[in-house]
Amino acid sequence: MEKIKLTPKRKEIIERMGFSNINSILRYYPYRYDIYKDDTLGFTLHDKKVSVEGTITGKVKIEHLPKKLIKTTFMLKTKNDQVNIVMFNRLVSTSYLFEGNNLVVSGKYNALRHEITVASFFVGKLDGKDRYVPIYSLPSDIRDATYKSFIKYILEANKANDYVKPIIPDDMTIRYKLVDINTALENIHIPESSEMLNQSYRYLKYEEFLTFCGLGYLKRKMLNLGNGKHKKYIDYQLINSFISSLPFKLTNDQMMAKDEILHDIISNVGMSRLLQGDVGSGKTIVGVIAMIANCSSGYQSALMAPTDILATQHYEDIKGRLEKFGFKVELLVQDLPAARKNMVIDGIMDGSINIVIGTHALISQNIRFKKLGLAIIDEQHRFGVKQRVALKEKGVDIDILYMSATPIPRTLASTIYMDMDVSTIAVYPYKERKVKTFYINDNSIIKVKDFIIQYLENKKQIYVVCPSIEESKLEIENVKSIYNKWKKTFPNYNIALMHGKLKSDVKDKVMDDFKDGKIDVLISTTVIEVGINVFNANMMIIYNAERFGLAQIHQLRGRIARDGNVGYCYLLSNSEDDDIKDRLTFIQDNSDGFKISEYDLKNRGAGDMLGLAQSGKSPFVIANLIDDFNILKVASDDIRYIMSHKERYEKFIQYLHDLLREKPKYID
Ligand code: ADP
Ligand code: MG
Repeated sequence: MEKIKLTPKRKEIIERMGFSNINSILRYYPYRYDIYKDDTLGFTLHDKKVSVEGTITGKVKIEHLPKKLIKTTFMLKTKNDQVNIVMFNRLVSTSYLFEGNNLVVSGKYNALRHEITVASFFVGKLDGKDRYVPIYSLPSDIRDATYKSFIKYILEANKANDYVKPIIPDDMTIRYKLVDINTALENIHIPESSEMLNQSYRYLKYEEFLTFCGLGYLKRKMLNLGNGKHKKYIDYQLINSFISSLPFKLTNDQMMAKDEILHDIISNVGMSRLLQGDVGSGKTIVGVIAMIANCSSGYQSALMAPTDILATQHYEDIKGRLEKFGFKVELLVQDLPAARKNMVIDGIMDGSINIVIGTHALISQNIRFKKLGLAIIDEQHRFGVKQRVALKEKGVDIDILYMSATPIPRTLASTIYMDMDVSTIAVYPYKERKVKTFYINDNSIIKVKDFIIQYLENKKQIYVVCPSIEESKLEIENVKSIYNKWKKTFPNYNIALMHGKLKSDVKDKVMDDFKDGKIDVLISTTVIEVGINVFNANMMIIYNAERFGLAQIHQLRGRIARDGNVGYCYLLSNSEDDDIKDRLTFIQDNSDGFKISEYDLKNRGAGDMLGLAQSGKSPFVIANLIDDFNILKVASDDIRYIMSHKERYEKFIQYLHDLLREKPKYID
């Protein structure tokens, strides 16, 4: 922390908020503003948020409602009108709500009643200027006014000493006519006007994107495959006979993705391609074709999946398809019996195994490939950069294919993934699966219990999904208590519990029993997120749905309705937060993975989709990939320029490296 004078109270704020220096204080931005301006009311503003200034005319009426709610009503005389004002739940102070006093109010307008239900207000006048009042997310024991005066003090200290240094290179600041960093920081905290707030946004958004693209560039460089790969001669006849042996016809999108991949494999530049497509769009089979092609040229192929269950499932599926073509396929996961594991490790080393499917076990130190030429990384966002690099380094002439089930629009993908090529499967192979999703604003199954019983009576199975038990400290009904409740509520059924902390042989047993229909209801954390196929399970119930990202919910519900029948997904949440309600309503009404990830991106919950932060939090505080796409595009082009003129941008590049060192998580 820089040496500035601080009162004990301010020191306490710093401690409470966990700030480490001036920069971290000023980078904690308001999450929204109350905007006070003087709207001209009319029917077009019906049901919208409005703001007007005026003078209280007539009597102020105060009613005491049940539950200590107070309703205050009065008339406000505005510039050319009079409007009814309603306020709820305020500690009414007659010292400012009296006839003749000036107020600026903000709230929802009902044009039919010509009435504003006030959300916030202040006493005074606008004096012809819009007023932005910042709202911070603060612990309850730090008062709003105290915090604001603290920020004001820090802003002044910073202005005098320039503690916070600019990140954006001068060239760009000049080219885009950006304000300086101090002005940007001042106006994000204390906006002088809407225009200055916009200038501040322009600066900070560009800064975020430039950092994001810069880190993305460095990260890709670590994975850079470069030129000089030996050309691979692949056996098209074999590939075609495999394709015609399939019980189905590949879709156009699958064919196109396949062609793009084969083209990369035979070229002399290492493949670095992302294959994206919604859950169930048929990515695996395209990956299998890539493996056949690569193996046919004399190399080994590996597929790495994030969980044992998923790896095992891929293994069973792929082994069946490929052994008849003469390839030896093996599984490598942590918990194999030692003898078998050693056999697999030897086979990988002496080249007798052509294809290995596994988990992180594949990148253990003791694994050496004879000639690994293709690595496929399924659910790529679940792996960090280090793990991807580790796999790459086990290969020669290596091609890498990443698979992702959170597809994003192509233009966006090619911008944010910078040096990766992108293949997209946008159309489902068969008629879209029908999952009916119901959002229930209650974290319980009471309302659907009868339906559940009826469903179970038909010998069908259910997935119940809860937020992970590591988070049980929070006031969330964790997976165990839900399990106990279900056992009580449905004593005649076989209910099983599954979570990440169980031993893997226990997990396997539970999964097998569920697959075999011995278990009716599987209560679990998101360990079942990816890949599992149980055709008889057509219902999924998700508790605390507000705790899940939309892409995650979408992937979860992709587990059901796999047999062609209608599936039922219940999203339970008792949250009253408007954003959460909107989000869950959106996922209830939408089934297109592209739209869903776009919504996620727009609402900033999508860091894990970008493979940036495994926390699932977006690295963007202010910028938004969808709304600010134009700025992103500019920043991404600028990074290419900067990286090819490194000597001119040493300071900025140094900053990126420092950031990588400080916060490796940010990029992992
Ligand atoms: P994902 O993209 O989620 O990995 P999968 O590869 O698991 O999807 O495919 C889902 C299912 O669709 C699998 O059972 C697969 O065999 C089947 N499938 C893939 N391609 C086709 C196709 N062209 N026609 C019919 N079924 C297909
Ligand atoms: Mg898959």
